[in-house]
Amino acid sequence: AKASGKNRMEIYQSSQTDATLLNFELEQDLRLAVNTPQILLHYQPQFSLDDQQLCGLEALVRWQHPHRGMIPPDQFIPLAEETQLIIPLGWQVIDLACRQLAEWLEQGEQPQCVAVNISPLQLLQSDFIEQLNLIVDAYGLSRRLLELEITETLLHQDPDFAFKQLKSLRLAGYRLALDDFGTGYSSFDRLKYMPLDRIKIDRSFVRDIGKNPKDEAIILSIIGLGKSLDIEVLAEGVEDASQQAFLKQHGCDSVQGYLLGRPVAQPVLSRAV
Ligand code: C2E
Ligand code: CA
Ligand code: CA
Ligand code: CA
Repeated sequence: AKASGKNRMEIYQSSQTDATLLNFELEQDLRLAVNTPQILLHYQPQFSLDDQQLCGLEALVRWQHPHRGMIPPDQFIPLAEETQLIIPLGWQVIDLACRQLAEWLEQGEQPQCVAVNISPLQLLQSDFIEQLNLIVDAYGLSRRLLELEITETLLHQDPDFAFKQLKSLRLAGYRLALDDFGTGYSSFDRLKYMPLDRIKIDRSFVRDIGKNPKDEAIILSIIGLGKSLDIEVLAEGVEDASQQAFLKQHGCDSVQGYLLGRPVAQPVLSRAV
């Protein structure tokens, strides 16, 4: 038993070393990838449930690695956050989204709002708003065309400063959405002070519609909360028609998910479900 215990330890240590090496390699690669076309955006449509019309697009980052192929964000955003690379990467994402919006406007399209995921690390930089305004103004865009998706972890370190940033961003004309709502340590008390346009119900609740009455109850209470605080509610991860029917029946404002469209490089802008 002792020997196998030791072996297990060695295996654990060596696989940990492998992971460290892999991360180190990936970090070097990511450093080289930022601000090159290896980093790109896919867009997933969002539909409003009352008129079935496209009401927005979420920009989701992708890394086209030269040898490893397309790497999904869950495999490099945490690394980017650990290494601070998320700051230049985050600016590239914002720039790409703005460039796409400007291109659509130039083509005579009437694009809906594009939602961009913002890491707390980036949003809490003291010059974030100033830099953001510079980019958005350089592309000649209305600030209402940009929605910033944030998570509650933003409030962990310095809630007062975070609230201040959010208020200034909203005053500057940007839309704000609270992502993955219901996961983490949501506090209704804090929500009251957050200047939000939208709450996004996490897909872990949507997944069990029709299977778990507790998830359904949580969804209903989030929708009710949105109504009483006058904040739009979007449900993410909608994969089948019965989930969508449930959400529509209970007054959810909008939906996003594989049922309605996967993230794609070239989204179609004028489409109803
Ligand atoms: P998220 O913000 O919650 O984004 C939604 C994720 O769910 C996306 O995964 C999307 O492709 C996926 N999804 C959409 N509809 C469905 C569905 O019906 N079923 C299922 N099972 N999944 C669905 P993705 O693109 O892999 O992104 C993962 C996470 O990476 C995002 O979660 C977000 O937290 C982060 N992320 C993505 N892009 C960025 C970015 O530009 N900056 C930062 N900081 N984080 C990003
Ligand atoms: Ca998101
Ligand atoms: Ca989400
Ligand atoms: Ca998520």
